[in-house]
Amino acid sequence: MPLSGALKLVVSALAAALVAALAIQPELRAALIAQINDPAALPTLPEDARVHFEAQARARAEAAAAALPAAVAKIEAEHGRPFARPPVVAVFADDAAYARANGLGDADIVGVSRAGRAMLSPALCQNESWRLVSVLTHELSHVHFFGWRPRGAPRPPQWFTEGLAVLASDGGAAESVSDADAARAIRDGYGVILDASRWTNFLSIPFAAAPPCGAGCDLRSFRQRMAYRQAALFIGWLRRGDPAAFSRLMRALEGGSAFEPAFEAALNDPPQALWRRFATALQASR
Ligand SMILES: [Zn+2]
Repeated sequence: MPLSGALKLVVSALAAALVAALAIQPELRAALIAQINDPAALPTLPEDARVHFEAQARARAEAAAAALPAAVAKIEAEHGRPFARPPVVAVFADDAAYARANGLGDADIVGVSRAGRAMLSPALCQNESWRLVSVLTHELSHVHFFGWRPRGAPRPPQWFTEGLAVLASDGGAAESVSDADAARAIRDGYGVILDASRWTNFLSIPFAAAPPCGAGCDLRSFRQRMAYRQAALFIGWLRRGDPAAFSRLMRALEGGSAFEPAFEAALNDPPQALWRRFATALQASR
């Protein structure tokens, strides 16, 4: 039945309002798109129902399933407690399907976690297959951390969640920048700045000075991996310095506490002050 003129106007006004709201709220938009394309609807492997896959990615899904028990145990040991609920792992073969499921519309990000799902990109079936286990372990760190947090809890800064995931996965998602590379960059004045922002635009990650990216270097992934690895180094230093205080911070954040007050309550100083101490300690170890 054709819509009346007035009804058409109302519908188009509502649609415009929805589009405007989603434009203002990229997070909301991403979550909505991901929910519509939930990878939990994909078939599961008979040997491990936690692993979902697209048919063309079956071999990689089997490799992920084989690695999953050790990766889960590793994250539980690193984070200091079991998963709140079993993780869902999804292995994609198709760039477009992966881009829809991760909610970001981007197939170049090698792994994304969202709503308890660790999603692995088609690149991990192809030229980056050697990174499958490290990226899976990295994404499981996010699934574990956010799995405990209450809905709507204030999100910690990205340097913390990404640094934690790189630390817990022994370098997952930052493979091409080593601990030594990151330490050298900090000592040479190219330290990342610990701000409260989301680092989804990797070219805009703030550094004290832009770390040099040599000939043929992919600036976007270099800046991302350098920032992640420096954050991991810092978080590892914090944890080694006072394991009990670090555990208190983790439990507070998992309980939904806001990051800055929880950090100061557990570690007695704001992150920036401790970063200065960390950088000074790195200089002394030169
Ligand atoms: Zn990550």
